Amino acid sequence: MRYADQVAGIPWETIEAVRRRLKEKPALHFIAGEFSPSESGETFPSLDPATNEVLGVAARGGEKEVDKAARAAHEAFPKWSRTKAKERKRYLLKIAELIEKHADELAVMECLDAGQVLRIVRAQVARAAENFAFYAEYAEHAMEDRTFPVDRDWLYYTVRVPAGPVGIITPWNAPLMLSTWRIAPALAFGNTVVLKPAEWSPFTATKLAEILKEADLPPGVFNLVQGFGEEAGAALVAHPLVPLLTLTGETETGKIVMRNAADHLKRLSPELGGKSPALVFADADLERALDAVVFQIFSFNGERCTASSRLLVEEKIFEDFVGKVAERARAIRVGHPLDPETEVGPLIHPEHLQRVLGYVEAGKREGARLLVGGERAKTSFRGEDLSQGNYLKPTLFVGENHMKIAQEEIFGPVLVAIPFRDEEEALKKANDTKYGLAAYVFTRDLERAHRLALELEAGMVYLNSHNVRHLPTPFGGVKQSGDRREGGTYALDFYTDLKTIALPLRPPTCPSSGRKGGSPWQGPERSTSRP
Ligand code: NAD
Repeated sequence: MRYADQVAGIPWETIEAVRRRLKEKPALHFIAGEFSPSESGETFPSLDPATNEVLGVAARGGEKEVDKAARAAHEAFPKWSRTKAKERKRYLLKIAELIEKHADELAVMECLDAGQVLRIVRAQVARAAENFAFYAEYAEHAMEDRTFPVDRDWLYYTVRVPAGPVGIITPWNAPLMLSTWRIAPALAFGNTVVLKPAEWSPFTATKLAEILKEADLPPGVFNLVQGFGEEAGAALVAHPLVPLLTLTGETETGKIVMRNAADHLKRLSPELGGKSPALVFADADLERALDAVVFQIFSFNGERCTASSRLLVEEKIFEDFVGKVAERARAIRVGHPLDPETEVGPLIHPEHLQRVLGYVEAGKREGARLLVGGERAKTSFRGEDLSQGNYLKPTLFVGENHMKIAQEEIFGPVLVAIPFRDEEEALKKANDTKYGLAAYVFTRDLERAHRLALELEAGMVYLNSHNVRHLPTPFGGVKQSGDRREGGTYALDFYTDLKTIALPLRPPTCPSSGRKGGSPWQGPERSTSRP
């Protein structure tokens, strides 16, 4: 169905051209500067979440393709890591420019493949370009570190050096934005890359490879292997020539990957799941809180790692505030992601829809009160038939924190509202989870806001706001949401090795055992540090 001549400023002809491309052109691997199918010729289909028809196919990579890609990244590493920072910066800026040039195509592709609303995906494509432009600025100075003069006798200094090829494994919810968030710092800091995107939304990765080729990035600096997690992903985790791994995905996948990476003593940056709380106090600006809470869980189809999926509300405003959330949730427009009026599109895959519906059933079984939704959306807000797609009505439960729906990440448009008596109970409930990605606090009491910010077990806390990312700040979680930090110079800890170089400024007193008349082992200083 054609909704308009343009959607989010993109002409309908472009949308149709992207559909044709996906049908006709398989998403290939990109290894050592060349696009290729799998050696076996095998492919796998990717479904249109709006209809569950096949959108197109992608090459199904395995050990062989990963081995070729890892070797290419390994061979390109010495030259790329020594490429002048100014030149790397130029490549990154060029890539940012080309992403902007191909923004319409990328946005439509991601929208069709991931089921995310086109208006939102457009912003994400802009962010993908920004990821490169942002890290381009860091390429030149990021390796600078500290000097440690010791009296006039010694000079110690530290430098950062690129740590080697990086395996980047990404999820299906925001493939382009999340992969570029890893690729950009990797390239800026002199590392080479093997990307393994999620099998449920493979297409923009191959388009991104085309862009990197158009930017004339030297062969082998960026490589892409399409395929399944247990095949291509596992092979990448095990490959000896790839010492660094980033994984953005589920906590359970994180545990498997961490175990497998440990066999090779690899450095792993895991960005995992979340069950982030939003704490709403009676004294808050409740309209602002309402907007934030509704946006944080229902936009992006609820498939957002930092979604505030647990809504903790002070008892005395609970019924009223939750009633307003319910009213908003009922009014959210569910429809095709290309429809310019749509707010919630289809979930990524029928399996994921079943999983989310399973949680809805679990909530009912445990006695949670279902206020809104809880079932598939069969017609759009315009009355179109949605029965073939993975649409779920925005769903709101009233429950308790011990319930499965409040403890496990659902990764869909499902919100659980939970009352609390006072600040102490709010904090206790907020922290009673295995996750610790983000937390949101709504109150006009500044002291309370800052007190809670310190006590909440989360990597990121937003006060009186939804999640607005600022790229220089660290991004990441605690507990089972992850343990590394990406963003700004914080990413350096992962992508580079810190090296200490020591230089005595006058001959050091070194024992000369074995030399005639030399001093024995004991005696001379072994440490320059003073008590
Ligand atoms: P997933 O864990 O199923 O898959 C993520 C990636 O891991 C995919 O590319 C998959 O193919 C790969 N994979 C799976 N098994 C593997 C294995 N054994 N070895 C190597 N690779 C393997 O996650 P998903 O369902 O694609 O994405 C949703 C999850 O991602 C949610 O839990 C969400 O919270 C999380 N996420 C986290 C962040 C963050 O920054 N913390 C951001 C976005 C999404």
